[in-house]
Amino acid sequence: MLKCQRCPNKAVIHITEILGPGQVEDVHLCENCYKALITAQLQQQAGGVGQQERSEIVNKSCSHCGLTFTAFRSHGRFGCAQDYTVFQEEIAPLLESLHGQTRHEGKTPRRGPLSQAQQAELTQLRQQLQWLIREERYEEAARIRDRIRQLEEGR
Ligand SMILES: [Zn+2]
Ligand SMILES: [Zn+2]
Repeated sequence: MLKCQRCPNKAVIHITEILGPGQVEDVHLCENCYKALITAQLQQQAGGVGQQERSEIVNKSCSHCGLTFTAFRSHGRFGCAQDYTVFQEEIAPLLESLHGQTRHEGKTPRRGPLSQAQQAELTQLRQQLQWLIREERYEEAARIRDRIRQLEEGR
């Protein structure tokens, strides 16, 4: 069982983030901490973003499952694997605030930098994998896992 990075609860949100060339970091949070983080971040954003821009974010929704950013924010849950991509822009700044707490845990950076495209693919695959595991779709998950290994080994 993976623990939340901020409290002893079980982590239910798992996000892989790209820190820089060849450097990725896994973020594990329980639902409460994730929501708290998102709420804090959105309040911060609200100060700097114009009204029009803000309503665009709020009205954004997934074409696959229909999840809106508002719904995602309030439940802290994704509706389908595509949502990670749909709301990527909105989620990215939320994760920046985590860095201070996670850096010192010292994950070993991978050997040999991957191209940007490979990193993007890896990130997406990892997110899909988490989702498939949660949905107990293990056969599909196994295929994704193999692809991740291939990418990580630079094949
Ligand atoms: Zn927590
Ligand atoms: Zn969706």
